[in-house]
Amino acid sequence: RSKEQGRNQVTMYHQSMKQHNDQILYVEQVLRHAVNEDKFILKYQPMVDSNRQIVSFEALIRIFQDGRTIYPDEFIPVAEDTDLIQSLGRWVISNACYTASESGHNISINVSSKQFHQQGFIKYIEQIINQFNIKPNSLTIELTEGVVVGNFNEIQYKFNRLSDLGVQIAIDDFGTGYSSLQYLRQLPIDFLKIDKSFIDDVQTNDNAEVIIRTITSMAKNLNLKTVAEGVETEEQFSLLKKLGCDYFQGYLFGRPGDLHTIKDDRQP
Ligand code: C2E
Ligand code: MG
Ligand code: MG
Ligand code: MG
Repeated sequence: RSKEQGRNQVTMYHQSMKQHNDQILYVEQVLRHAVNEDKFILKYQPMVDSNRQIVSFEALIRIFQDGRTIYPDEFIPVAEDTDLIQSLGRWVISNACYTASESGHNISINVSSKQFHQQGFIKYIEQIINQFNIKPNSLTIELTEGVVVGNFNEIQYKFNRLSDLGVQIAIDDFGTGYSSLQYLRQLPIDFLKIDKSFIDDVQTNDNAEVIIRTITSMAKNLNLKTVAEGVETEEQFSLLKKLGCDYFQGYLFGRPGDLHTIKDDRQP
């Protein structure tokens, strides 16, 4: 390879690094603006039982700016790398609890690992539950397996405090993390949300089917409920019911939307 080619590659590398950094700086700016100017919105996606009855809604955050919607996969990682996840997280907790109190629905919220480990997180949950006077068990907190990596005593203490408050706990994207399964019997967990990647493959890949069957039977033995994430077709739904999933979420039942229009859609 010529010297010239090598130099070009280095230049290209620097350019894409720069673009990457510019993108992060841009998202950080958008986030700061969203925090200061109240540009976040929550969409709500239903979770249903095996009879398609809605049992709760998951709050999913977006930034709405200049007529454009920005999705969380783009800004949550940036928020986690800065302290912005703290204000974002508090905004989500208080807005979702307000919605729970107004609508009477059960609501799930996503809490990032950094937010969970932050001092004062549980006090804040407790304070908001009291402020809006909601039944603690109408709130579910979704955490990923990444949360249980670290000082186990401290993690267990926090889970127990949440459970003592009466809020429910779900493990999100279950099956994709690196944590051991030990924690499932040592922590007060209510739901395992089976990651969409297994649901996508359930009809075409025998291994995915075996994994889901294994998760649901383990969950039954541990007294946990399972949720299938990202169900898109009737065929998936009927197979997942056979495999023992308790609850279901996905475009088949409803996309993330506005709570009042979702309610209206259910009127005859
Ligand atoms: P998640 O909690 O696992 O949420 C499920 C994601 O899958 C959502 O994407 C949802 O819109 C999407 N989804 C649901 N059903 C289907 C389906 O049938 N097909 C397809 N293709 N997608 C489906 P969304 O809203 O873009 O959120 C992505 C992730 O961002 C969430 O994954 C969660 O980890 C994170 N997130 C969302 N809201 C918040 C928040 O308020 N706080 C924090 N910390 N993280 C959040
Ligand atoms: Mg979730
Ligand atoms: Mg998930
Ligand atoms: Mg996810």
